[in-house]
Amino acid sequence: MSKPSLQLKGVSFHYKESKSQQSFLILDSFDFDVHKGEFISIIGPSGSGKSTIFRLITGLEEPLNGEILINGKRYPNRFGKVGYMPQQDLLMPWRTILDNATLPLELKGVKKQEAHKKVSDLLGEFGLKDVEKKYPGDLSGGMRQRVSFLRTVLSGSNVLLLDEPFSALDAITRLSMQEWLLVQWEKWKTTILFITHDVDEALFLSDRVFVFTEAPVQKLVEVHVPLTRPREIRDIHSPDVIAVKEQLIDQLRKQVAT
Ligand code: ADP
Ligand code: MG
Repeated sequence: MSKPSLQLKGVSFHYKESKSQQSFLILDSFDFDVHKGEFISIIGPSGSGKSTIFRLITGLEEPLNGEILINGKRYPNRFGKVGYMPQQDLLMPWRTILDNATLPLELKGVKKQEAHKKVSDLLGEFGLKDVEKKYPGDLSGGMRQRVSFLRTVLSGSNVLLLDEPFSALDAITRLSMQEWLLVQWEKWKTTILFITHDVDEALFLSDRVFVFTEAPVQKLVEVHVPLTRPREIRDIHSPDVIAVKEQLIDQLRKQVAT
C-alpha cells in the first residue's frame, strides 16, 4: 500500500470548558492513517467529535498529546497544508462567485488578474461558468457547494477535508453532487476525507468507512467498501454492500444506545 497522506499518532484532545471547569477527552491516544488517493468517510452521531478531527488536522485546534503528519511531514503550522471545507459554506455574500473562488489564490499573494484567469478556466469544469458574475445569494444550494468545493481545491492541497458538504441538499441534487464529486476526485487524484451521517452516501463514495465509537475514542471502527470503480448508485444495493451497511448501522446504534 502507498505511503500515508495523513497520519494521526497517539493524538489526545479535549476542549477546555470555561464554565464548569470539566473537560472530557474526545480523543485518547488516537491513531488514524489515510493513504494517498483514498476516499475515506467518517460517520458517527452528532457531537461525537467528527468535526473536531478536522479542526485538529487543519491546526485550528492543537492536540494535547501526539502528532499529526501530512504527506509524511510534521509542520509547526499546518494551516493551509490541507484543503478544508467546513460545515457551513462560508462564502462571502458581497463577493461575486468569481471573487469568492479566487480568494485562496489572493491569500497566497497571486495577482488578481492572474487569479481570475486561472479560476475562469476551472469554473466551466465545475459547472459554474454562467454564474461567475452572480452573488452567493443568487445560487442554489448545490451550486454554492460547488463554489465552496472549487475554493477548497484551489488551495492546491492534495488532501481535502469535506465536512458534511451535502447534508443540506435535497435527495436528487445530493446524488448528482456525489456523482460529480467522484468524477472530480478521479480527475484530481486527491485524498479525500468526507464527514457524513448518511450511511448510503459513505458507502457510495468511499474506499473505507470509519465509525466513531463512544468517547474517548482510541480507534475508529473501520469497514472496507466491497465495490470496484467506477460505481453507480444502484451498486450500493448489492448483497455484499448491504451486509456492510448492516454492520455500520449496528455500530451506530450501539453509540446512540450508550
Ligand atoms: P460532530 O462533528 O461529530 O458533531 P464535534 O467535533 O463538533 O462533533 O464536537 C464534539 C464535542 O465537542 C461535542 O460535545 C461538542 O459540544 C464539543 N465541542 C465542539 N466544539 C467545541 C468548542 N469550540 N468548545 C467546546 N466544546 C466544543
Ligand atoms: Mg460536525
